[in-house]
Amino acid sequence: MLKKKLPLHTQILIGLLAGLVFGLITIFSPLPNVIVVDYIKPIGTIFVNALKMIAVPLILASLIVGVANLGDITKLSRMGGKTITIYILTTAIATTIGLGLVNLIKPGKVITEETRNELMEVYSTDALEKTVEASKVKEKGPLEPLVRMVPENIFGASSENGNMLQVVFVAVIFGIAMLYVPGKKSELVLKFFDGINDIVLKIIDFIMKLAPYGVFALIAALIVELAGDDPNKAMEILGALGMYALTVVAGLLIMITITYPTIFKIFTKINYRYFFKAIRPAQLLGFSTSSSSATLPVTMECVEKQLGVSEEVSSFVLPLGATINMDGTSLYQGVAAVFIAQALGLDLSLGAQLTIVLTATLASIGSAGVPGAGMVMLVIVLEAIGVPSAGLALIVAPDRILDMCRTVVNITGDCTVTATVASTEGEQIGS
Ligand code: ASP
Repeated sequence: MLKKKLPLHTQILIGLLAGLVFGLITIFSPLPNVIVVDYIKPIGTIFVNALKMIAVPLILASLIVGVANLGDITKLSRMGGKTITIYILTTAIATTIGLGLVNLIKPGKVITEETRNELMEVYSTDALEKTVEASKVKEKGPLEPLVRMVPENIFGASSENGNMLQVVFVAVIFGIAMLYVPGKKSELVLKFFDGINDIVLKIIDFIMKLAPYGVFALIAALIVELAGDDPNKAMEILGALGMYALTVVAGLLIMITITYPTIFKIFTKINYRYFFKAIRPAQLLGFSTSSSSATLPVTMECVEKQLGVSEEVSSFVLPLGATINMDGTSLYQGVAAVFIAQALGLDLSLGAQLTIVLTATLASIGSAGVPGAGMVMLVIVLEAIGVPSAGLALIVAPDRILDMCRTVVNITGDCTVTATVASTEGEQIGS
Protein backbone atom coordinates (compact mmCIF):
# COMPACT_ATOMS: atom_id res chain seq x y z
CA MET A 1 0.00 0.00 0.00
CA LEU A 2 1.24 3.46 -0.85
CA LYS A 3 1.91 5.52 2.26
CA LYS A 4 0.75 9.12 1.81
CA LYS A 5 3.02 11.77 3.23
CA LEU A 6 1.44 14.39 5.47
CA PRO A 7 1.51 17.89 3.97
CA LEU A 8 4.20 20.18 5.34
CA HIS A 9 1.87 22.47 7.25
CA THR A 10 0.29 19.48 9.03
CA GLN A 11 3.74 18.23 9.98
CA ILE A 12 4.67 21.65 11.35
CA LEU A 13 1.39 21.88 13.24
CA ILE A 14 2.01 18.50 14.82
CA GLY A 15 5.51 19.66 15.84
CA LEU A 16 4.01 22.80 17.35
CA LEU A 17 1.37 20.97 19.38
CA ALA A 18 3.83 18.30 20.50
CA GLY A 19 6.21 21.07 21.64
CA LEU A 20 3.40 22.70 23.58
CA VAL A 21 2.43 19.46 25.32
CA PHE A 22 6.05 18.53 26.03
CA GLY A 23 6.76 22.01 27.45
CA LEU A 24 3.72 21.83 29.73
CA ILE A 25 4.60 18.33 30.91
CA THR A 26 8.12 19.51 31.71
CA ILE A 27 7.09 22.50 33.81
CA PHE A 28 4.54 20.57 35.82
CA SER A 29 6.74 17.49 36.32
CA PRO A 30 9.90 16.95 38.32
CA LEU A 31 11.89 16.86 35.05
CA PRO A 32 14.48 19.65 35.34
CA ASN A 33 13.79 22.52 32.92
CA VAL A 34 17.47 22.71 32.10
CA ILE A 35 17.14 19.52 30.02
CA VAL A 36 14.87 21.35 27.60
CA VAL A 37 17.09 24.43 27.54
CA ASP A 38 20.33 22.49 27.09
CA TYR A 39 19.28 19.62 24.84
CA ILE A 40 16.09 20.57 23.00
CA LYS A 41 16.29 24.32 22.44
CA PRO A 42 19.53 23.99 20.38
CA ILE A 43 17.60 22.02 17.72
CA GLY A 44 15.32 25.01 17.33
CA THR A 45 18.26 27.39 17.19
CA ILE A 46 19.95 25.29 14.50
CA PHE A 47 16.75 25.35 12.45
CA VAL A 48 16.34 29.13 12.71
CA ASN A 49 20.03 29.68 11.97
CA ALA A 50 19.78 27.50 8.87
CA LEU A 51 16.86 29.60 7.61
CA LYS A 52 18.73 32.82 8.32
CA MET A 53 21.83 31.41 6.63
CA ILE A 54 20.00 31.05 3.35
CA ALA A 55 18.14 34.40 3.39
CA VAL A 56 20.88 36.64 1.91
CA PRO A 57 21.86 34.30 -0.97
CA LEU A 58 18.18 33.78 -1.71
CA ILE A 59 17.38 37.49 -1.94
CA LEU A 60 20.51 38.24 -3.94
CA ALA A 61 20.06 35.50 -6.50
CA SER A 62 16.30 35.69 -6.93
CA LEU A 63 16.13 39.47 -7.02
CA ILE A 64 18.98 39.83 -9.51
CA VAL A 65 17.36 37.23 -11.76
CA GLY A 66 13.93 38.78 -11.19
CA VAL A 67 14.98 42.33 -12.10
CA ALA A 68 17.12 41.23 -15.03
CA ASN A 69 14.16 39.27 -16.43
CA LEU A 70 11.86 42.28 -16.26
CA GLY A 71 13.20 43.51 -19.56
CA ASP A 72 13.02 47.21 -18.68
CA ILE A 73 12.80 49.30 -15.56
CA THR A 74 9.36 50.83 -16.10
CA LYS A 75 7.73 47.76 -14.60
CA LEU A 76 10.10 47.89 -11.65
CA SER A 77 9.34 51.50 -10.79
CA ARG A 78 5.60 50.91 -11.22
CA MET A 79 5.77 47.87 -8.96
CA GLY A 80 7.91 49.74 -6.43
CA GLY A 81 5.42 52.60 -6.23
CA LYS A 82 2.46 50.25 -5.80
CA THR A 83 4.21 48.10 -3.22
CA ILE A 84 5.28 50.95 -0.98
CA THR A 85 1.91 52.71 -1.19
CA ILE A 86 -0.05 49.58 -0.23
CA TYR A 87 2.45 48.71 2.50
CA ILE A 88 2.08 52.11 4.15
CA LEU A 89 -1.71 52.17 3.74
CA THR A 90 -2.25 48.74 5.30
CA THR A 91 0.05 49.61 8.18
CA ALA A 92 -1.85 52.83 8.90
CA ILE A 93 -5.16 50.91 8.74
CA ALA A 94 -3.77 48.36 11.21
CA THR A 95 -2.72 51.05 13.70
CA THR A 96 -6.12 52.71 13.43
CA ILE A 97 -7.90 49.40 14.11
CA GLY A 98 -5.70 48.88 17.19
CA LEU A 99 -6.46 52.37 18.46
CA GLY A 100 -10.20 51.96 17.88
CA LEU A 101 -10.28 48.71 19.85
CA VAL A 102 -8.16 49.86 22.77
CA ASN A 103 -10.27 53.00 23.17
CA LEU A 104 -13.43 50.91 23.03
CA ILE A 105 -12.38 48.07 25.35
CA LYS A 106 -10.18 50.19 27.66
CA PRO A 107 -8.11 47.27 29.01
CA GLY A 108 -5.83 49.64 30.95
CA LYS A 109 -8.66 50.71 33.22
CA VAL A 110 -9.15 47.20 34.64
CA ILE A 111 -5.62 46.93 36.01
CA THR A 112 -5.59 47.33 39.79
CA GLU A 113 -3.03 49.58 41.45
CA GLU A 114 -1.53 46.55 43.16
CA THR A 115 -0.95 44.68 39.87
CA ARG A 116 0.42 47.84 38.31
CA ASN A 117 2.98 48.34 41.07
CA GLU A 118 3.94 44.68 41.01
CA LEU A 119 4.50 44.70 37.24
CA MET A 120 6.50 47.92 37.44
CA GLU A 121 8.70 46.34 40.09
CA VAL A 122 9.25 42.98 38.42
CA TYR A 123 9.84 44.24 34.87
CA SER A 124 11.54 47.62 35.42
CA THR A 125 14.94 46.32 34.29
CA ASP A 126 13.50 44.88 31.05
CA ALA A 127 11.80 48.22 30.37
CA LEU A 128 15.03 50.09 30.95
CA GLU A 129 16.95 47.78 28.60
CA LYS A 130 14.44 48.41 25.80
CA THR A 131 14.62 52.16 26.38
CA VAL A 132 18.42 52.09 26.08
CA GLU A 133 18.17 50.06 22.86
CA ALA A 134 15.62 52.49 21.45
CA SER A 135 17.72 55.52 22.31
CA LYS A 136 20.50 54.15 20.11
CA VAL A 137 18.07 54.09 17.18
CA LYS A 138 16.78 57.56 17.94
CA GLU A 139 20.20 59.23 18.11
CA LYS A 140 20.62 58.62 14.39
CA GLY A 141 18.17 61.22 12.99
CA PRO A 142 15.05 60.87 10.84
CA LEU A 143 16.73 60.08 7.50
CA GLU A 144 18.82 57.30 8.97
CA PRO A 145 16.76 54.46 7.39
CA LEU A 146 17.43 55.98 3.97
CA VAL A 147 21.15 56.38 4.69
CA ARG A 148 21.33 52.82 5.96
CA MET A 149 19.86 51.49 2.75
CA VAL A 150 23.04 52.21 0.79
CA PRO A 151 25.90 50.05 2.04
CA GLU A 152 29.47 51.29 2.02
CA ASN A 153 30.65 47.79 1.25
CA ILE A 154 28.75 45.21 -0.79
CA PHE A 155 30.29 42.27 1.01
CA GLY A 156 29.75 43.94 4.37
CA ALA A 157 26.05 44.30 3.51
CA SER A 158 25.73 40.62 2.69
CA SER A 159 27.50 39.56 5.86
CA GLU A 160 24.77 40.57 8.28
CA ASN A 161 21.10 39.60 8.15
CA GLY A 162 20.07 42.87 9.78
CA ASN A 163 21.10 44.60 6.54
CA MET A 164 18.38 43.03 4.45
CA LEU A 165 17.40 46.34 2.82
CA GLN A 166 21.02 46.90 1.78
CA VAL A 167 21.04 43.51 0.12
CA VAL A 168 17.79 44.38 -1.67
CA PHE A 169 19.35 47.64 -2.81
CA VAL A 170 22.49 45.98 -4.16
CA ALA A 171 20.51 43.27 -5.95
CA VAL A 172 18.15 45.77 -7.59
CA ILE A 173 21.04 47.98 -8.79
CA PHE A 174 22.89 44.90 -10.05
CA GLY A 175 19.82 43.63 -11.90
CA ILE A 176 19.12 47.04 -13.44
CA ALA A 177 22.73 47.37 -14.58
CA MET A 178 22.46 43.96 -16.24
CA LEU A 179 19.57 45.29 -18.31
CA TYR A 180 21.95 47.87 -19.73
CA VAL A 181 24.75 45.42 -20.53
CA PRO A 182 23.40 43.63 -23.57
CA GLY A 183 24.43 40.34 -25.13
CA LYS A 184 26.50 37.40 -24.07
CA LYS A 185 28.21 39.00 -21.09
CA SER A 186 25.08 39.62 -19.07
CA GLU A 187 23.44 36.38 -20.30
CA LEU A 188 26.27 34.48 -18.73
CA VAL A 189 25.86 36.24 -15.40
CA LEU A 190 22.11 35.71 -15.53
CA LYS A 191 22.61 31.98 -16.07
CA PHE A 192 25.01 31.91 -13.15
CA PHE A 193 22.58 33.57 -10.73
CA ASP A 194 19.72 31.48 -12.08
CA GLY A 195 21.70 28.37 -11.20
CA ILE A 196 22.51 29.71 -7.74
CA ASN A 197 18.83 30.47 -7.26
CA ASP A 198 17.81 26.88 -8.01
CA ILE A 199 20.47 25.54 -5.68
CA VAL A 200 19.37 27.86 -2.89
CA LEU A 201 15.76 26.71 -3.33
CA LYS A 202 16.90 23.10 -3.03
CA ILE A 203 18.75 23.95 0.20
CA ILE A 204 15.51 25.45 1.55
CA ASP A 205 13.77 22.14 0.78
CA PHE A 206 16.43 20.36 2.84
CA ILE A 207 16.04 22.80 5.73
CA MET A 208 12.28 22.41 5.69
CA LYS A 209 12.65 18.69 6.38
CA LEU A 210 13.84 19.81 9.81
CA ALA A 211 10.90 22.19 10.29
CA PRO A 212 8.60 19.98 12.42
CA TYR A 213 11.46 19.13 14.80
CA GLY A 214 12.73 22.71 14.88
CA VAL A 215 9.26 24.02 15.68
CA PHE A 216 8.80 21.37 18.37
CA ALA A 217 12.04 22.47 20.04
CA LEU A 218 11.28 26.19 19.77
CA ILE A 219 7.84 25.88 21.33
CA ALA A 220 8.90 23.47 24.11
CA ALA A 221 11.76 25.81 25.07
CA LEU A 222 9.47 28.84 24.93
CA ILE A 223 6.95 27.29 27.34
CA VAL A 224 9.68 26.32 29.79
CA GLU A 225 11.28 29.75 29.66
CA LEU A 226 7.98 31.60 29.99
CA ALA A 227 7.01 29.59 33.05
CA GLY A 228 10.36 30.29 34.76
CA ASP A 229 10.79 28.96 38.29
CA ASP A 230 7.21 29.56 39.31
CA PRO A 231 4.66 28.55 36.65
CA ASN A 232 1.68 29.52 38.84
CA LYS A 233 2.98 33.04 39.35
CA ALA A 234 3.64 33.39 35.61
CA MET A 235 0.04 32.32 34.86
CA GLU A 236 -1.25 34.82 37.40
CA ILE A 237 0.64 37.74 35.80
CA LEU A 238 -0.47 36.70 32.32
CA GLY A 239 -4.06 36.46 33.57
CA ALA A 240 -3.93 40.01 34.94
CA LEU A 241 -2.97 41.24 31.50
CA GLY A 242 -5.55 39.04 29.77
CA MET A 243 -7.78 41.91 28.68
CA TYR A 244 -4.86 43.75 27.07
CA ALA A 245 -3.64 40.62 25.29
CA LEU A 246 -7.15 39.87 24.05
CA THR A 247 -7.46 43.40 22.64
CA VAL A 248 -4.27 42.91 20.61
CA VAL A 249 -5.39 39.48 19.42
CA ALA A 250 -8.85 40.79 18.48
CA GLY A 251 -7.23 43.50 16.36
CA LEU A 252 -4.95 40.97 14.67
CA LEU A 253 -7.96 38.77 13.90
CA ILE A 254 -9.76 41.72 12.32
CA MET A 255 -6.76 42.22 10.01
CA ILE A 256 -6.84 38.59 8.94
CA THR A 257 -10.58 38.14 8.65
CA ILE A 258 -11.70 41.55 7.36
CA THR A 259 -8.92 43.85 6.14
CA TYR A 260 -6.97 41.41 3.95
CA PRO A 261 -10.01 39.68 2.44
CA THR A 262 -11.39 43.14 1.56
CA ILE A 263 -8.13 44.04 -0.21
CA PHE A 264 -8.37 40.77 -2.13
CA LYS A 265 -11.98 41.47 -3.09
CA ILE A 266 -11.21 44.97 -4.35
CA PHE A 267 -7.97 44.37 -6.23
CA THR A 268 -7.83 40.70 -7.19
CA LYS A 269 -9.80 37.66 -8.24
CA ILE A 270 -8.00 35.43 -5.79
CA ASN A 271 -9.98 33.21 -3.47
CA TYR A 272 -8.91 34.22 0.05
CA ARG A 273 -9.33 30.71 1.47
CA TYR A 274 -7.05 29.29 -1.17
CA PHE A 275 -4.52 32.03 -0.44
CA PHE A 276 -4.70 31.39 3.30
CA LYS A 277 -4.09 27.68 2.81
CA ALA A 278 -1.18 28.30 0.46
CA ILE A 279 0.73 30.44 2.95
CA ARG A 280 0.01 28.29 6.01
CA PRO A 281 3.55 26.86 6.37
CA ALA A 282 4.94 30.42 6.44
CA GLN A 283 2.36 31.50 9.01
CA LEU A 284 3.12 28.54 11.26
CA LEU A 285 6.84 29.18 11.04
CA GLY A 286 6.34 32.87 11.73
CA PHE A 287 4.34 31.91 14.80
CA SER A 288 7.06 29.54 16.03
CA THR A 289 10.08 31.74 15.29
CA SER A 290 8.56 35.22 15.92
CA SER A 291 10.64 36.47 13.04
CA SER A 292 9.46 37.52 9.62
CA SER A 293 13.08 37.70 8.42
CA ALA A 294 13.87 34.13 9.42
CA THR A 295 10.63 32.96 7.79
CA LEU A 296 11.31 34.85 4.54
CA PRO A 297 12.75 31.90 2.56
CA VAL A 298 9.65 29.83 3.31
CA THR A 299 7.30 32.75 2.64
CA MET A 300 8.89 33.17 -0.78
CA GLU A 301 8.56 29.50 -1.52
CA CYS A 302 4.86 29.40 -0.53
CA VAL A 303 4.00 32.48 -2.57
CA GLU A 304 5.85 31.25 -5.66
CA LYS A 305 5.15 27.53 -5.59
CA GLN A 306 1.69 27.38 -4.04
CA LEU A 307 0.18 30.65 -5.22
CA GLY A 308 2.06 30.87 -8.49
CA VAL A 309 3.29 34.45 -8.09
CA SER A 310 6.20 35.17 -10.43
CA GLU A 311 9.73 35.36 -9.07
CA GLU A 312 10.08 38.95 -10.30
CA VAL A 313 7.28 40.12 -8.06
CA SER A 314 7.85 37.92 -5.03
CA SER A 315 11.60 38.46 -4.83
CA PHE A 316 11.07 42.21 -4.88
CA VAL A 317 7.95 42.64 -2.74
CA LEU A 318 8.57 40.04 -0.01
CA PRO A 319 12.08 40.97 1.23
CA LEU A 320 10.95 44.58 1.30
CA GLY A 321 7.87 43.56 3.27
CA ALA A 322 9.84 41.45 5.76
CA THR A 323 11.84 44.57 6.59
CA ILE A 324 9.35 47.41 6.39
CA ASN A 325 5.79 46.07 6.38
CA MET A 326 4.67 45.15 9.88
CA ASP A 327 0.90 45.49 10.17
CA GLY A 328 0.70 43.30 13.25
CA THR A 329 3.49 45.24 14.95
CA SER A 330 1.96 48.65 14.30
CA LEU A 331 -1.45 47.46 15.53
CA TYR A 332 0.17 46.13 18.69
CA GLN A 333 2.12 49.35 19.20
CA GLY A 334 -1.10 51.38 18.98
CA VAL A 335 -2.88 49.16 21.53
CA ALA A 336 0.13 48.98 23.86
CA ALA A 337 0.77 52.73 23.90
CA VAL A 338 -2.82 53.57 24.83
CA PHE A 339 -3.02 50.65 27.29
CA ILE A 340 0.04 51.94 29.16
CA ALA A 341 -1.38 55.47 29.22
CA GLN A 342 -4.72 54.15 30.55
CA ALA A 343 -3.04 52.03 33.21
CA LEU A 344 -0.95 54.99 34.37
CA GLY A 345 -4.08 57.14 34.54
CA LEU A 346 -3.03 59.48 31.71
CA ASP A 347 -5.63 60.85 29.32
CA LEU A 348 -4.67 61.03 25.65
CA SER A 349 -6.01 63.85 23.50
CA LEU A 350 -7.17 63.30 19.91
CA GLY A 351 -3.89 64.92 18.80
CA ALA A 352 -1.94 62.35 20.81
CA GLN A 353 -3.95 59.52 19.23
CA LEU A 354 -3.20 60.84 15.75
CA THR A 355 0.47 61.08 16.72
CA ILE A 356 0.25 57.38 17.60
CA VAL A 357 -1.06 56.52 14.13
CA LEU A 358 1.86 58.35 12.57
CA THR A 359 4.63 57.23 14.91
CA ALA A 360 3.45 53.62 15.18
CA THR A 361 3.32 53.39 11.38
CA LEU A 362 6.87 54.75 11.17
CA ALA A 363 8.12 52.79 14.18
CA SER A 364 6.83 49.53 12.71
CA ILE A 365 8.60 50.32 9.43
CA GLY A 366 11.77 50.80 11.47
CA SER A 367 11.28 47.56 13.43
CA ALA A 368 13.45 44.71 12.23
CA GLY A 369 11.76 41.39 11.47
CA VAL A 370 13.24 39.75 14.53
CA PRO A 371 11.75 38.67 17.87
CA GLY A 372 10.90 41.53 20.21
CA ALA A 373 11.81 44.35 17.81
CA GLY A 374 8.31 45.84 18.01
CA MET A 375 8.60 46.42 21.74
CA VAL A 376 11.88 48.31 21.41
CA MET A 377 10.39 50.65 18.83
CA LEU A 378 7.33 51.14 21.02
CA VAL A 379 9.54 53.37 23.21
CA ILE A 380 9.61 55.89 20.35
CA VAL A 381 5.80 55.94 20.16
CA LEU A 382 5.54 56.41 23.95
CA GLU A 383 8.00 59.27 23.96
CA ALA A 384 6.21 61.02 21.10
CA ILE A 385 3.02 61.20 23.17
CA GLY A 386 4.72 61.99 26.48
CA VAL A 387 4.01 58.66 28.23
CA PRO A 388 6.92 57.52 30.44
CA SER A 389 8.73 54.63 28.80
CA ALA A 390 9.10 52.96 32.21
CA GLY A 391 5.45 52.01 31.57
CA LEU A 392 6.80 49.38 29.19
CA ALA A 393 7.21 47.22 32.29
CA LEU A 394 3.43 46.76 32.23
CA ILE A 395 3.41 44.85 28.96
CA VAL A 396 6.63 42.80 29.08
CA ALA A 397 5.02 39.62 30.44
CA PRO A 398 2.78 38.60 27.53
CA ASP A 399 5.02 40.13 24.87
CA ARG A 400 6.64 36.93 23.71
CA ILE A 401 3.27 35.36 23.00
CA LEU A 402 1.88 38.48 21.34
CA ASP A 403 5.06 38.69 19.27
CA MET A 404 4.26 35.27 17.82
CA CYS A 405 0.75 36.37 16.91
CA ARG A 406 1.74 39.72 15.41
CA THR A 407 4.47 38.07 13.34
CA VAL A 408 1.80 35.86 11.71
CA VAL A 409 -0.07 39.01 10.70
CA ASN A 410 3.13 40.70 9.51
CA ILE A 411 3.76 37.74 7.20
CA THR A 412 0.14 37.48 6.06
CA GLY A 413 0.25 41.21 5.24
CA ASP A 414 3.42 40.78 3.16
CA CYS A 415 1.85 37.90 1.24
CA THR A 416 -1.39 39.84 0.72
CA VAL A 417 0.47 42.76 -0.83
CA THR A 418 2.60 40.44 -2.95
CA ALA A 419 -0.47 38.67 -4.34
CA THR A 420 -2.19 42.00 -4.93
CA VAL A 421 0.76 43.51 -6.77
CA ALA A 422 1.13 40.34 -8.87
CA SER A 423 -2.56 40.34 -9.68
CA THR A 424 -2.62 44.00 -10.70
CA GLU A 425 0.41 43.28 -12.88
CA GLY A 426 -1.77 40.86 -14.81
CA GLU A 427 -0.46 37.62 -13.33
CA GLN A 428 -2.87 34.69 -13.16
CA ILE A 429 -2.51 33.44 -9.64
CA GLY A 430 -4.20 30.78 -7.53
CA SER A 431 -7.98 30.65 -7.45
N1 ASP B 1 8.75 39.78 15.58
C1 ASP B 1 8.15 40.66 14.64
C2 ASP B 1 8.51 40.19 13.24
O1 ASP B 1 9.52 39.60 13.01
C3 ASP B 1 8.53 42.08 14.85
C4 ASP B 1 7.97 42.56 16.18
O2 ASP B 1 6.82 43.02 16.19
O3 ASP B 1 8.64 42.43 17.20
O4 ASP B 1 7.79 40.37 12.31
